[in-house]
Amino acid sequence: MQTAPCLVFDVGGTKLRAGLYESDRISREMVVSTPNFLNRPDMLTREIRGALFSEMQSLAGAILHDRKVDKVSIAFAGPIDSNGSVLAAPTIWGRGSGPYPLREEVQRLWPEAEVSVLNDVTAAGYRYLRHPSDDICVLTVSSGIGHKIFVLGRPVVGPNGRGGEIGHLRVDTSDEAPVCDCGEKGHVGAVASGRGVLLAARKRAQQQPASYRRSFLGQRYSRPSAINNAAVVEAFHAGDRWVHRLVRESAEVLGRAIAMLHCAVGLERVVVIGGFALALGDGYRRELARAAGESCWNLGERWDAMVCLGEADDWSGMIGAGRYAMGWSS
Ligand SMILES: [Zn+2]
Repeated sequence: MQTAPCLVFDVGGTKLRAGLYESDRISREMVVSTPNFLNRPDMLTREIRGALFSEMQSLAGAILHDRKVDKVSIAFAGPIDSNGSVLAAPTIWGRGSGPYPLREEVQRLWPEAEVSVLNDVTAAGYRYLRHPSDDICVLTVSSGIGHKIFVLGRPVVGPNGRGGEIGHLRVDTSDEAPVCDCGEKGHVGAVASGRGVLLAARKRAQQQPASYRRSFLGQRYSRPSAINNAAVVEAFHAGDRWVHRLVRESAEVLGRAIAMLHCAVGLERVVVIGGFALALGDGYRRELARAAGESCWNLGERWDAMVCLGEADDWSGMIGAGRYAMGWSS
């Protein structure tokens, strides 16, 4: 029987992707909805996990046919400890779902394969390493914000895996600060994510109705509550100054966080990924680079070259998981 080198999964909050990793590429990609606590409200957490494993097996069957697989590698949306256990998965299993030995459970599905489990942003970081001992920061800006720093090709998350969570740094100490996914107020992820920008747009549209009505966005959405992220992105690309100001303000918050990482550990390459950032594109990247440069001293850094966008596809988690399993970590 022919053997496939590496079966990869990217288990996100909404999408479950699977594919075959070969020659640093993904083939036979398949995508389904991730069974989660929102779309399976009548299920217990252990039943939702069972549904995830059934989906993974059926995707694997369609991808591999009757081929055997040597390695299975999973990028997962949650912090992972060194044993491949999930510490938390609020977007999939809800808050307070507790530690879960994911690697061990997946090993039962493919007992003959070598199984790896890694955080999805960490996995994405492996994709953007230019060589196995590269130093980079991968930063994701979507409904939330996350990052991972790689030093000498390895993710740096500290002895207890608590690092790589710049989204939970508090930057707004006011009483009206927006609430973060984690439940606390004023975090970078609440202020500068796609969700944060959307909430800020709705709030400002209510507070400043006259300027809002004159904007590109205001002419399309008379009710602020009807604004969505796609509309924000469209208005940004259309050159709407009202939206551009909002996006710039969010980029200033994140730019300061990038400058802090640079000042702390000297990182000179920041790869920005995530649906919101990639949809906004180069205009957003330039705002981040400018804000980072203005947030620290000047040692001749070329911020415009240091902050770059990742690939605008959905393969970063799978390619990174494949690279990790095939030995880029060694
Ligand atoms: Zn938070």
